[in-house]
Amino acid sequence: MSTALVWLRRDLRLADHPALAAACAAHERVLPVYIHAPEEEGTWAPGAASRWWLHRSLQALGQALCERGGRLHLAAGESLEQLDRLVSQTGASAVYWTRCYEPALIERDSGIKAALRKRGLTVESRPGNLLLEPWRISGSEKRPYRVFTPFWRKLASQLTSVRPLPESLPRRWVRVAGSLRLEALDLAPRIPWAGGLARAWRPGEAGARERLRHFCERALADYAAGRDCPADPGTSRMSPHLHFGEITARQIHYALHRRAVRARPAGKASIEAYLRELGWREFAHHLLYHFPGTCERNFNRRFDAFRWAEADATVLGRWQRGLTGVPIVDAGMRELWSTGWMHNRVRMIAASFLTKNLRVHWLHGARWFWDTLVDADLANNTLGWQWVAGSGADAAPYFRVFNPLTQAARFDPQAIYLKRWLPELAGLPARLLHEPWRDPAALTGCGYPEPMIDLKASRELALEAYRVLPRD
Ligand SMILES: Cc1cc2nc3c(=O)[nH]c(=O)nc-3n(C[C@H](O)[C@H](O)[C@H](O)COP(=O)(O)OP(=O)(O)OC[C@H]3O[C@@H](n4cnc5c(N)ncnc54)[C@H](O)[C@@H]3O)c2cc1C
Repeated sequence: MSTALVWLRRDLRLADHPALAAACAAHERVLPVYIHAPEEEGTWAPGAASRWWLHRSLQALGQALCERGGRLHLAAGESLEQLDRLVSQTGASAVYWTRCYEPALIERDSGIKAALRKRGLTVESRPGNLLLEPWRISGSEKRPYRVFTPFWRKLASQLTSVRPLPESLPRRWVRVAGSLRLEALDLAPRIPWAGGLARAWRPGEAGARERLRHFCERALADYAAGRDCPADPGTSRMSPHLHFGEITARQIHYALHRRAVRARPAGKASIEAYLRELGWREFAHHLLYHFPGTCERNFNRRFDAFRWAEADATVLGRWQRGLTGVPIVDAGMRELWSTGWMHNRVRMIAASFLTKNLRVHWLHGARWFWDTLVDADLANNTLGWQWVAGSGADAAPYFRVFNPLTQAARFDPQAIYLKRWLPELAGLPARLLHEPWRDPAALTGCGYPEPMIDLKASRELALEAYRVLPRD
């Protein structure tokens, strides 16, 4: 009777799982295993909010396996050593996994694949977490894409709506002694904002499916218009579920494609807009795969000469805690601190404020997001920060400094979002909500800080620093 290990990483689900499906088809007995080895992710080991999510996602997967007669085997330590141990314990002849695309993980996985094959094992890495593998799409002269629109056009032309795989179950699950208890992984120590995370999210495959259903029923039809308003539940909040592989982009693509057939023109436009956002996720992974160094350094090397300001701990601390005195920035930073998530429009405004008005290097912002976002994802976070900073591929031009006042007036005109996250401002008259400093007495009375920087003057300084950069 042949046995296979399925090494689970960012694919914490049972449905639409090509690696699990292949193992179940070729072997009688299957052992699903998760190995906790954060140091193998290099300088981008999961942050606090991601660890909180991971704990609950593993719990949900463990429960789902238990209901199906199996057990998720948990281990910690060097991945190769743990896989070797499980191979000898179970007599497995094969190891399967879903590919990851982060540079440190590609290097680790290639080493492990070679080592296991040398020992005579069958090793199969399968796709699953992207719509298309990053190397399956290229521009002219087989070069990787650097601009989103042609990338998306090509990707969209190659996509077919393939029915996702059903849940995979083996003929027999394997159980071996020595599995750790989930608590032993120490993923979710007491973090100050855990209560807010638990109220906001339901990690796991069932939670992902439920959230997609809810989004499709309540918000998808208006997504094209509603996706920019941070006060509304206008976006899907699928990002952490996608990051941990609790649902696949293919499952979402398939579900939306079926709806598109029946949808009216406005609904069709919303579905197209949503699929285009999934396209940005694919683009981010394409870029990280082809330009792996860009999670640490500027994509556009011209920015190496940019005169960033000293990253002063007080300045950074005020931005991190939502105490800059600029309401839309602070509302976003407090939403992040409370729920582990921030609306995309506000991510752009808060990131622009940090990198342009305060001129703090984008890596400082990326690191804070990394620790506090439940959807922290190396490809998407790198793309987002470099896009806003102006140093990325197909980035916003540097001279586009988001004006937090006009952005707030346009996308949160009733200040509903501001009042939700800045309760101390709620008693101010409506005309002051976006610019409370216009009435110093009211500002002092409510205990909200004065702006830490003059928006207009800091914008000018940023543009000046940009003007002296060497030309391309
Ligand atoms: C500075 C900055 C940092 C960011 N860091 C991350 C991050 O660490 N992880 C992350 O998943 N996203 C990141 N984003 C992208 C985007 O903000 C989030 O994907 C989005 O807000 C998630 O919410 P949603 O699922 O409701 O999005 P929806 O609008 O419902 O979009 C659906 C899905 O498309 C993908 N997507 C949407 N917008 C983008 C985008 N701009 N780039 C890449 N993929 C996108 C996501 O997977 C998302 O779940 C960042 C953006 C900025 C500006």
